[in-house]
Amino acid sequence: MSREIKIYDTTLRDGTQGEGVAFSMEDKVRIAQRLDALGIHYIEGGWPGSNPKDLRFFKRVQDAVFKTAKISAFGATRRPGVRPQDDANIQALVEAGPPVVTIFGKSWDFHVTAAIGTTLEENLAMIGDSVAYLLKHFEEVIYDAEHFFDGYKRNPEYALRTLLAAEAAGAHCLVLCDTNGGSLPHEIAEIVAHVKRTLKTGTPLGIHAHNDVECGVANSLTAVGQGIDHVQGTINGYGERCGNANLVSIIPNLMLKMGLECIPRSNLHELRDVSRFVSELANRKPWASQPYVGDSAFAHKGGIHVSAVLKHPETYEHTDPELVGNHRRVLVSELAGQSNILWKAREYGIDLDKNTPDARRILDMLKRLEDEGFQFEGAEASFELLMERALGNHRPYFDLDGYRVIVEENNGDDEEPVAEATVRLKVKGIPEHTAASGNGPVDALDHALRKALEDFYPSLKEMTLLDYKVRILDESKGTAAKTRVLITSGDGDETWGTVGVADNIIEASWQALVDSIEYKLRRDDKKGRR
Ligand SMILES: [Zn+2]
Repeated sequence: MSREIKIYDTTLRDGTQGEGVAFSMEDKVRIAQRLDALGIHYIEGGWPGSNPKDLRFFKRVQDAVFKTAKISAFGATRRPGVRPQDDANIQALVEAGPPVVTIFGKSWDFHVTAAIGTTLEENLAMIGDSVAYLLKHFEEVIYDAEHFFDGYKRNPEYALRTLLAAEAAGAHCLVLCDTNGGSLPHEIAEIVAHVKRTLKTGTPLGIHAHNDVECGVANSLTAVGQGIDHVQGTINGYGERCGNANLVSIIPNLMLKMGLECIPRSNLHELRDVSRFVSELANRKPWASQPYVGDSAFAHKGGIHVSAVLKHPETYEHTDPELVGNHRRVLVSELAGQSNILWKAREYGIDLDKNTPDARRILDMLKRLEDEGFQFEGAEASFELLMERALGNHRPYFDLDGYRVIVEENNGDDEEPVAEATVRLKVKGIPEHTAASGNGPVDALDHALRKALEDFYPSLKEMTLLDYKVRILDESKGTAAKTRVLITSGDGDETWGTVGVADNIIEASWQALVDSIEYKLRRDDKKGRR
């Protein structure tokens, strides 16, 4: 087996320092279990001395079974002039009682004298005493050398002495931290190499990088390249300021690019799910361009490029997306050559052979519509209907005679303006004329349309509008500009997007509404229900 890199996750501690990231205690337990299932080696649960919620987490996980992961508590070395057994923070670590403890100490002489106001010698004693004391209570003691790289750049000799103090006391791993996240890969390489030469001991080293100059992942990999076998980071790179080193990129880089072992190979395909799971619980929107796992990470747009990807994926993809649980996407756009359409058509079960009149007709229609401002990314349902129309397979579910929308503002009255819509149409040859009010003109139109159709198509009652987005296409024209409306609808079973473009917002909304209803009815027909 090749070299194994231990992964130390600190999403639950350092990750929660990120703006807008907060987890309840139950969230933390669920994340810990998910990370354990992925095969992460260490999970840092929190800082029991700083936060009572964290202490409760450690009590809660004492009975939980973890297959791979060891739970770790985080804290500081003892305070100056206080014995470890008398230090409240250290006692909180002991009380938390997980198998592993990680304590951080100062490596930068300036921090010792200016921030904690003690002598350089006392700081070394604080490190040594704390490690030695904690070894009596824990299976493993990890020492985080805070501000190591910054300290080393100013006073290498003192920074190294702090590591030696932790090592002499028996720490199991010495983690070099780029706490301010400002170091570059070539500096990390030089300093790690120098530390290894100077220490000349067998104590494993680790790396804890932050992303302030966007080198969190690069610095972690560089350290591994220099022989470091313990990497700390967070899921999706959550963390203070610009975040921590992102484990969701580090793990596949180690395994797929550097040929090293870390989590079990059979679990690697869970990576995207884990990334989504944590962003869901953190209530953070997934990052579309996130390397390896983002929606756009393997999305292809250009025409020639797409035909190449379909023949030989390696031409435009650095790795197989399925390995990390992602998948290839082909986007429909004005750049589309025919192969995009064929791919998309195949996805929808419509069989089109290259260069057939059908394929050419769909392509022409698409180009004309995109010229007018239509965009089918996010509106796959409208694209599917477009293909049907181009193929002559489209069967309308109703014929519109006309609609009218009135918005009435009563002067001098505090109430909101009232919107009312009337719709005249024929369903199965029967004329219908309905009126409805609503919360704004589009809502009123939606109600009137449903009122006319629901008796004929009761399954429409299951359908709701989930999202409504408006984009003004040529902003320089002001109110005369074209408007694009994107609607997302759902029926509990599926969600789908539709689009409309017109000179006015009501007409654009109407188009997207009608597509949404047609899509729902057509899909129900295909399933043989309704
Ligand atoms: Zn950190």
